[in-house]
Amino acid sequence: MSGLAIGIDLGGTELRAALIGPDGTLRARRQTATDAKGGPQAVIAQMLALIAGLGTDGVQGIGIAAPGPLDPIAGICIAPPTLEGWRDVPLAALLAERTGLPTRLENDANAAALGEHRAGAGRGLAHLVYVTISTGIGGGVIEQHRLLHGRRGMAAEIGHMTLVADGPPCVCGGRGCWEALASGPALAQAAAQAIAGGAPTALRLPVTARDVAEAARSGDALALDLLRREARWLGLGFANLLHLYSPEAIIAGGGLSAALAMMLPEILATLHSAAMPAYHGAQVLPAALGPDAGLVGAACLILDHQDTP
Ligand SMILES: [Zn+2]
Repeated sequence: MSGLAIGIDLGGTELRAALIGPDGTLRARRQTATDAKGGPQAVIAQMLALIAGLGTDGVQGIGIAAPGPLDPIAGICIAPPTLEGWRDVPLAALLAERTGLPTRLENDANAAALGEHRAGAGRGLAHLVYVTISTGIGGGVIEQHRLLHGRRGMAAEIGHMTLVADGPPCVCGGRGCWEALASGPALAQAAAQAIAGGAPTALRLPVTARDVAEAARSGDALALDLLRREARWLGLGFANLLHLYSPEAIIAGGGLSAALAMMLPEILATLHSAAMPAYHGAQVLPAALGPDAGLVGAACLILDHQDTP
């Protein structure tokens, strides 16, 4: 049969691959620990082994979701910080050469946006913004059913919009970015400061964002307070996204989205006070595909382009 594609999700710790059907469903999957210290050749060998394990009967091509910065048009990984020795690696061309199959490359957050659009919470929506909230904050924008790319495919680096001038330092070198204020580590750091300052709580050091969410679920007052603060930062960022892109929905994924339901009232309250009334009709939805969004989206890079040479 035809209309199948292989999606690969290249992460700093896990390398995953799946055979995806034309409707975006997973038919089979393989995964392994990424040989992040082995350099590009070692990881490409791992990819080829996963592809061989899945088989390529009826496969139209291979889509790869990889950490940025990368150039999706040229298919080049520029300098992913989580992978050693990767600098200007023409990953799409190298894999195409070794497999004989058309291969496309996309930023992992963009691929996840595409996956949620085709087969997840954003199915049928022409305009959406996907936001992943975990170790960092990333995202992708779907505009008229297509990914918004911008110059060199670098659009929608939404975690690095500045929300506080001279705010806390960010991994990007800037200050006061949304990511520096509202990522999982930022929430954990706020919790650690409150615990060290003697706030009454069942939380103990060292503390993670997941610990805070769990404590909030059991009614811990400090944890609930921290989640309200987190929700306000998220609501503020979402309001900016509504003004910028006017999506029908903002789709929230990533580790912290597990606490989305608890934070939603405060997120919406912030959103409604910060966004102009004309934008209030947009929804905030939990992502549906979880960690598979990037895999499905990567395959869509091929499935959506079968008619173009
Ligand atoms: Zn930043």
